Amino acid sequence: MLKNYINGKWKDSYEKQAIKANNPATQKVIAEIPFGEKNVKDVNEAVNCAYNAYLEWRDVPVMKRVQVLYRLKSLMEENLDILAETITNECGKTKSESYGELQRAIENIEVACGTPMLIQGDFIEDIASGIDEMMIRQPLGVTACITPFNFPSMIVFWFLPYAIATGNAMVIKPSEKVPLTMIKIFELIDQLDLPDGLVSLVHGGKHSVDALIEHPLVKAISFVGSTPVAKYIYSKGTQNGKRVQAQGGAKNPVVLMPDCDVEMTSKIVADSVYGCAGQRCLAASVIITVDDNKRKLKDSLYDIVKSRKTGYGWNDEIDMGPVITNESKKRIEELIQVGINEGGKAILDGRNTKIMGFESGNFINPTIIEDVNLKKEIINTEIFGPVMSLISMKTLDDAIDFINNSNYGNMACVFTESGSNARKFRNKVYAGNIGVNIGVAAPMAQFPFSGWKDSFFGDLHGQGKHAIEFFTQTKVVIERWPNTWSRKF
Ligand code: NAD
Repeated sequence: MLKNYINGKWKDSYEKQAIKANNPATQKVIAEIPFGEKNVKDVNEAVNCAYNAYLEWRDVPVMKRVQVLYRLKSLMEENLDILAETITNECGKTKSESYGELQRAIENIEVACGTPMLIQGDFIEDIASGIDEMMIRQPLGVTACITPFNFPSMIVFWFLPYAIATGNAMVIKPSEKVPLTMIKIFELIDQLDLPDGLVSLVHGGKHSVDALIEHPLVKAISFVGSTPVAKYIYSKGTQNGKRVQAQGGAKNPVVLMPDCDVEMTSKIVADSVYGCAGQRCLAASVIITVDDNKRKLKDSLYDIVKSRKTGYGWNDEIDMGPVITNESKKRIEELIQVGINEGGKAILDGRNTKIMGFESGNFINPTIIEDVNLKKEIINTEIFGPVMSLISMKTLDDAIDFINNSNYGNMACVFTESGSNARKFRNKVYAGNIGVNIGVAAPMAQFPFSGWKDSFFGDLHGQGKHAIEFFTQTKVVIERWPNTWSRKF
């Protein structure tokens, strides 16, 4: 059974019931996770220890706090291979996807190393005669981070480096489907010069999450996962007086204008839809061809998509790994059937895929469903699998209306050579991330990460300056010092 990391030590959970996590390519059991009511006791212990550690850490100068991040970056770079292999074996990603997500995690550490500059406040001397006013930023205290299965390393780093650089403690609850990467990362955190308890790892599911949302010493929650859970966490967390940023699901549209470069666009779009087996919050899902370009794009997309190779992600020649669980595979295959029942044509149908040597893996080959009615389930439900819905519209304005009527607003992309079309799209579309001739508009660590509408609940996003603001509270101080106004200089 996996241990928690609490108060700077590996520790058995109070919970003796367990659930299993499997390698999605082989079904081999890779971990037993403590999972039940007694997880609450683990969380309470982690939060109480985190509070004591925070009281010590908040007084460490920021220049010293970021030294820990430089060390963490080096440790992660030295252990890249084992971390990447762990991601592939618990999450199913290809080798390059696993290394890619680690790179994104490290970039966030690098940006958070700039906290000594980013945390600076404001100061005005003589706001009135002899009176000075300043705004300083102080940490919140204990914070919590709850993450989904699809990026076992990266998502924690949208928050963790900023939280500790600004003087907070953090308790991390990873997805029960992929707990091992965080264990490997905590083996590195264990080597850092941090107060015991400042960063903790607790396992579990809803019991652990509810304990975090209810604990009075937890001041802020960073959540990433599906929309229903994000909504729940946002409403319950804010009712309990906590600062909450909750990132939810997505259904990302990509618009292909008649003037786009057919070959380049098809390649980028295929990567966007099928990268990480479609299990990316920024995966393209609904591809909209505009005007008369459907035929040529459809043929080109079909050829490129058909040539992609599905299999065990750690094998070099593989373009796409399995989906996370057997239940996920069943759900995605059922949705493909729904699309067909709704009148769509499966011009590529990835169901019933068997990979030699990995017969029990959760594989689905790339699927394309064409010509589905816009009101139907397949167009509006987050599939989170390797399925493209291919539809066509008459004008860019029709496409923008369709996008803006969707519940989600994580990402939308346009492919065009026209500056004015690109500008209109960027300006009018209701989504948090826009791509222009880019298939996965994932912001670099300097920029805020997350969406609009049902893809995000909160105000401040993860990464960069937003994260610095999220993990600090401002304090305004007004000072009058009598000696300075009694004498003329
Ligand atoms: P999920 O919502 O099932 O789980 C996320 C976390 O919430 C896990 O740690 C889980 O243990 C916990 N959880 C699950 N049910 C809960 C409940 N009822 N009460 C309290 N906690 C609960 O999400 P998932 O399946 O792991 O991840 C896929 C989802 O995450 C997709 O919808 C995807 O779009 C979304 N996602 C969004 C972003 C983003 O930036 N917007 C990024 C990655 C993934």
